[in-house]
Amino acid sequence: MPARLIYDHETRDAKSAAAGPGSPGDLMNMDTLVSLSKRRGFVFQSSEIYGGTGSVWDYGPLGVELKNNIKRVWWRDFVQSRADMVGIDASILMHPMVWKASGHLEHFTDPMVDCRECKHRFRADHVDALPWTHYCPATKGNKFTIPAGEPCGHCGQRRSLCPQCGKGELTEPRQFNLMFKTFMGPVEEDAAVTYLRPETAQAMFVNFDNVLQSMRLKLPFGIAQAGRSFRNEITPGNFIFRTREFEQMEIEFFVNPNDRVDGRPADEYWHDRWIKDCVAWFRRYGLTDANLRLREHEKDELAHYAKRTVDIEYKFPIGWSELMGIANRTDFDLKQHAKWSGKSLTYFDEERKEHVVPYVVEPAAGVDRALLAFMVDAYREEEVRGEKRVVLKFHPELAPLKVAVLPLLKKRDDIVRTAHAIRADLAKRWRVVYDDTAAIGRLYRRQDEVGTPYCVTVDVQTVGDSERGETGDQKVTIRDRDSMEQIRVPIAELATVFRDLLDGAAWSEASARYPAPRA
Ligand code: ATP
Repeated sequence: MPARLIYDHETRDAKSAAAGPGSPGDLMNMDTLVSLSKRRGFVFQSSEIYGGTGSVWDYGPLGVELKNNIKRVWWRDFVQSRADMVGIDASILMHPMVWKASGHLEHFTDPMVDCRECKHRFRADHVDALPWTHYCPATKGNKFTIPAGEPCGHCGQRRSLCPQCGKGELTEPRQFNLMFKTFMGPVEEDAAVTYLRPETAQAMFVNFDNVLQSMRLKLPFGIAQAGRSFRNEITPGNFIFRTREFEQMEIEFFVNPNDRVDGRPADEYWHDRWIKDCVAWFRRYGLTDANLRLREHEKDELAHYAKRTVDIEYKFPIGWSELMGIANRTDFDLKQHAKWSGKSLTYFDEERKEHVVPYVVEPAAGVDRALLAFMVDAYREEEVRGEKRVVLKFHPELAPLKVAVLPLLKKRDDIVRTAHAIRADLAKRWRVVYDDTAAIGRLYRRQDEVGTPYCVTVDVQTVGDSERGETGDQKVTIRDRDSMEQIRVPIAELATVFRDLLDGAAWSEASARYPAPRA
């Protein structure tokens, strides 16, 4: 589809506008990402010991922390802290009529084509975006791989056969419904067919009246939900970018279509407002401005229910692709569910003394794609004293581990005991780990590689030497991941220092209050 980019480059701050090659995001290719994710416990292939399952992935010990943190800050920023938002947690299995009313049974399809020769299957609308294999007649049939959309440089031919094998013809496109089918109850008959939800959104429409009545809400207000969705994608892939089971964070923001805000129809005002707020949210948690852009859907690309849709795209290692979509769905969904259920799904406008069907603006984000983008943008390779340092510069709120407590000498019981006690104390509030399985330099590098913002080191000075009658100073060293600077802090003040730092205080504020350790 032709893309109309509407990103306002004027809004870039000077720092990210200046970012050129080698800037955040450029260093991380998919192979690096997949291997780091496996090695350090972020993401594993599902059922790997049985050879893996197609396009489903498991989040490991660090991946689950990162993912939970993304969902937690999203919920806090968009639900908890706003007076006009509430949340729900609906079931994955819904009444099959939901999908009839929503249009998913009829329209939630992708065109599919197959190669008659190698049997490879493609999404028809993705074929031209693939590099293609060509046996060139002008060079005695030599095999070339030609970039997507380009003709052969020797014979000038354009792709007409299967891009994968370069030999077979492609079938005519057939529509393929992406919903996973299953059966409710013990009997596998047509009447028992139901579906795994392909999006979380419909539960917000179906529960519109329950939420409105139970919470006594006034327009405009939003209902949010984060949860699993399932799509039987024809060509999944690119790691966790496109999977068959994934998580979404969706908001349905209902507005009165008769209202005007700042002289504009309320739905249009709120649509633009949500686009701005969502971009700001991704930037706040670490995505570089140069890696974000907005893409307006063309009229012929719009979903059947949408008045206007804008995607926030991210420069993933696979190229610019959708990170989230923000659609103005008008009153389509509520009207459809009212029609098919026979229940009224309206709002009583006290001022105008009339019932209205609200319009809805839908900011819909994918948790897995957000996680992928945050990892890509956080990845840096730096040179420190002649050695390569790999560091994930996660925003502290997203970092899977907040603090690592490291004993300088693991043979000294008193040092180890103190380190364990510090970990246990800090762990009441944050995810904090203890590690003594390598020398300190190595331990720092390991924590850098998974993005832990702070390390605490317990050393001889902390505990003293009881055999010599020396008492320790009861202070430890905190090391900052990004600057690698260190400060010496009393153990008793650690929780306060970390509360400030992890709540967003700059490292310079802490380093102005506490001295550097003695060399
Ligand atoms: P695409 O065009 O990439 O298939 P979509 O426009 O169908 O995505 P939406 O229905 O708007 O996606 O879903 C909202 C968000 O859910 C997407 O922006 C994306 O972040 C996420 N998402 C959708 N499908 C998948 C998938 N198969 N795997 C991972 N995330 C997904």
